[in-house]
Amino acid sequence: MNDCLFCKIAAGDIPSRKVYEDELVIAFHDIRPLRPVHILVIPKKHITSLAHVGAADEPVLGRLLSIAQKLAAENGSADGFRGIINTGRIGGQEVPHLHLHILGGPEPVGPMVKHD
Ligand code: AMP
Ligand code: ZN
Repeated sequence: MNDCLFCKIAAGDIPSRKVYEDELVIAFHDIRPLRPVHILVIPKKHITSLAHVGAADEPVLGRLLSIAQKLAAENGSADGFRGIINTGRIGGQEVPHLHLHILGGPEPVGPMVKHD
């Protein structure tokens, strides 16, 4: 049995505010948005993180990135966005299913990472 939260969202077993779906990826609004636009794009198949990908994953990784501008523009961030992929413990990844955060809105997102 797969206990992965995002696998369950991809399968429709847990509800989400879906904004996009194709054969490789699905995108939905983050449940705790950090900016006016905060969308997550995930592979439909389980990939734990960017530390767990191989050459065979290149089509899905390409789709994850190539769809980002369209999703940002369609959801209120046409003039750019911040894409973030938190990876593993050091990267602060909380959900162990690869996901791209798309952050944006009418105002600039702000500094990438704050100085200590
Ligand atoms: P990360 O820290 O990069 O693993 O980000 C995980 C993200 O998943 C956080 O921004 C959470 O707010 C978001 N999240 C957790 N559970 C859900 C859910 N059920 N639906 C949508 N987003 C979620
Ligand atoms: Zn998963």
